[in-house]
Amino acid sequence: MRYTLFICLSLFSMAVYAQNKNTSKAMKVNDSKSSTEHKPKLVVGIVVDQMRWDYVNRFKPFFKSSAGFQRFINEGATVDNTLIPYLPTVTACGHACVYTGSVPALHGIAGNEWYDNVKQKKVYCVDDPNVQTIGSSNNTAGQMSPMNVWTTTIGDEFKLASNFKSKVFGISLKDRGAIIPAGHSANGAFWYDSKTGNFISSTYYAKSLPTWVSNYNNLHRPDSLYNLNWNLSLPASVYEANCDLDENTYESTPFGKEAKHFPYTLKSFIAKDYGKISTTPYGNSLVEELAKQAIVNEAMGNDDITDLLAVSFSSPDYIGHSFGPNSWETMDGYIKLDEILADFFTFLDKQVGKNNYTVFLTADHAVANIPAFNIKHQIPGGLSSEGALKNEIGAMLTAKGFNANLINYIGEGNIYFNHSLMDSMKISQDKLIDLVSSYLEKKPDVLQVVETRHAASASMPASLRERIVNGYNVQRSGDLVIINKSGYVDGFPTGTSHGTLYNYDAHIPLLFFGKGIKKTTVKRETYMTDIAPTITTLLGIQMPSGSIGKPIIEILE
Ligand SMILES: [Zn+2]
Repeated sequence: MRYTLFICLSLFSMAVYAQNKNTSKAMKVNDSKSSTEHKPKLVVGIVVDQMRWDYVNRFKPFFKSSAGFQRFINEGATVDNTLIPYLPTVTACGHACVYTGSVPALHGIAGNEWYDNVKQKKVYCVDDPNVQTIGSSNNTAGQMSPMNVWTTTIGDEFKLASNFKSKVFGISLKDRGAIIPAGHSANGAFWYDSKTGNFISSTYYAKSLPTWVSNYNNLHRPDSLYNLNWNLSLPASVYEANCDLDENTYESTPFGKEAKHFPYTLKSFIAKDYGKISTTPYGNSLVEELAKQAIVNEAMGNDDITDLLAVSFSSPDYIGHSFGPNSWETMDGYIKLDEILADFFTFLDKQVGKNNYTVFLTADHAVANIPAFNIKHQIPGGLSSEGALKNEIGAMLTAKGFNANLINYIGEGNIYFNHSLMDSMKISQDKLIDLVSSYLEKKPDVLQVVETRHAASASMPASLRERIVNGYNVQRSGDLVIINKSGYVDGFPTGTSHGTLYNYDAHIPLLFFGKGIKKTTVKRETYMTDIAPTITTLLGIQMPSGSIGKPIIEILE
């Protein structure tokens, strides 16, 4: 088994090497051509799923290479005060905002999931019952497409500007992390099927997986990576000095109840559980490896028509949810992500050519401290439980002589009323708002409850009020949105989450380097919505249809 794997890997790298050799001739010609042009041949968008802005500074002393995160600092632009201008700060909305330059009110992605007020049912952001899975027998894992996104993306604009000659691909562990960034007219989007350990796609893009994706799947990389286990990159003393304890009762145990600290044995998951790799740094390795394959096999960045590769690293989110931002796991995850980025950028230099490509790196959202960690350090915060609210509010309504079914759904801070029942019971919107908000606003974790339709006049600082307005989608948002107090996290006694308008969730990194990017630092306040129009300005093409951001022109040459 191990020998076969070795042969496979050798053949694989030989193939990559052969491709590199073939493209290097063409590359030289491209180099001389490109010197007079401002347009990159390839834009690589990197979203790190769950990354706080301050991680770059916090972990900088431990980044080994100057080729990873440090490359942005040494050669490119760092934009230090970038905020998410809407609610909720979750994965689907983040990826949609980065690539559309827009907000849930316009692009339609109102959450990871929502209750559709028109269809009267719960919808997952990339659900599409009209398409089929390709690359797996897991039928539901691939019934996905970008059909719920209402505006164009960066990739769509690349396509429109090039008579659809640009190549556009999205790759991520998460379906929504690949599909939403790739956009409507993409050549392909590939995501990880935790049931089979394969990258899969849907018939929205093609009838079958490209050969290069099937070939990659046939290498069974999750098995070889599990075989390496998860060991620390640096001596334990470094983590001890810079993090919380390695073992804490408030950390989750994704690798089994007894696996409470480093080192983590992963060998036992080989051929048994392909989901566990998501909560290790190896999830990032899978995404990077497939991204390289896309560039080589689809000849991306090979001519003067700019291509787009949208990569989303999901593992930091799984690791962060389980262990929190102050854990050894998070720090080690970022040290290893830095090495992966260094390897990827070195590959891009060789394959596409230095100064022929432009990279941006940002996050879809950041993250809160673990509630018990906050309490331990006398920082405000605690646990709140959205899951229990529907029953709680239902019981309150029943006790007051109304009906528990007046609440249709509660999720991601939104409360959806049952309007047909309200009509038949002759209960006004104002009456129900009154009942629900006066009940919730007595709770210790709740700051206030805002009526979404009238959020523009809520008693709240204008900049925060605007984020509620930006997040409110008439067809897909609730009637009310619950704003918790700072530090209150919806979830479980172990691990942590994100989704609020507070800076720990909403302040994200934004880094650029490569063709057309100045070496500079921008300190003024900027927004996630500014990323898409900055990229389209760099290329001199139309900005996405719903973009409300402003190009960050200080960083452009
Ligand atoms: Zn998350």
